[in-house]
Amino acid sequence: MRYILLFALALAAPATQATQSTTEKPLEIYFIDVEGGQATLFVTPAGRSMLIDTGFPGYQDRDINRILATMKQAGVSRLDDLLVTHFHLDHVGNAAALAAKVPVGTFVDHGDPVERDSKELLGPYDTARTSGKHLQAKPGDKVPIDGMEVTVVSAGGQHLARALPDAGAPNSLCAAFKPKETDPSENAQSVGVVIAFGKFRMIDLGDLTWNKEQELVCPNNLIGSVDLYLTTHHGVAQSNAPVIVHALKPRVAIMNNGAKKGGSPEAWQVVHDSPGLEDLWQLHYAMAGGKDHNTAEQFIANPDETTANRINVTARRDGSFTVTNERNGLTKVYKARSQ
Ligand SMILES: [Zn+2]
Repeated sequence: MRYILLFALALAAPATQATQSTTEKPLEIYFIDVEGGQATLFVTPAGRSMLIDTGFPGYQDRDINRILATMKQAGVSRLDDLLVTHFHLDHVGNAAALAAKVPVGTFVDHGDPVERDSKELLGPYDTARTSGKHLQAKPGDKVPIDGMEVTVVSAGGQHLARALPDAGAPNSLCAAFKPKETDPSENAQSVGVVIAFGKFRMIDLGDLTWNKEQELVCPNNLIGSVDLYLTTHHGVAQSNAPVIVHALKPRVAIMNNGAKKGGSPEAWQVVHDSPGLEDLWQLHYAMAGGKDHNTAEQFIANPDETTANRINVTARRDGSFTVTNERNGLTKVYKARSQ
């Protein structure tokens, strides 16, 4: 009996060391340039992976190849989770093709599409998702992945019923909110998530639109604050209402715009003016923005459509994080917030 115990301890020792070393390692996040769509890869210290959205189909497999190249560089050969925020081409575009090339653990989406075109889009994806588990996301759900916490805050037009921990304070910006017309499109159905890694928090709301954004923060801010804000809907003015952007108080924003898609001057200004924002990084120079509504050149990953540079983020459990522009190697460290 004693020998068995010693043997068990000997086996357990290296595992304990491995666990200790992985807690020191960061979360790696890759914002892939898909020319104004979305594709964001997360890799945990233990090598678990989640991809949010899959870029556009076509263009000689441009976006799927960029995703596969990023996975290779990140050292992942499977996706533990493939989250499709909603059924528009620039998000679900390569989901089925990707699932044919790499194993997928869980497919996460909001359920049935609400647009007829989207139902047609669902076709190949519907078949693909039978190859893994399927989570029809509801607000409050956790996306199953070890090493980080991914909480669904919006899905299928619904939003969180209760505030996230340490959130829920009244939002004084609600009084000035002006609703827009109800959005009947897939955008309003977007699966939105808050991703927490230790004290680091970021938000990705897909293409969620104006009135639905407001529901998350009025009358009480159900989300709280975030360190990193991925601009909603590629930085267009139908989204990025000040009532949510300014209540989230991001330290850093990353705009997943293309040269000719997203990055509208109005939304850019809202993000730029957010209280406490230290920097705005952009995947692309936005042609619509001109010189007054683009961030400084060194924070832009792609000046035009001839390159496909990423913006990479390394997040640590103490809440500090580093952002890197792959084009020029510019790296900036954001220290943990003081408590
Ligand atoms: Zn989109």
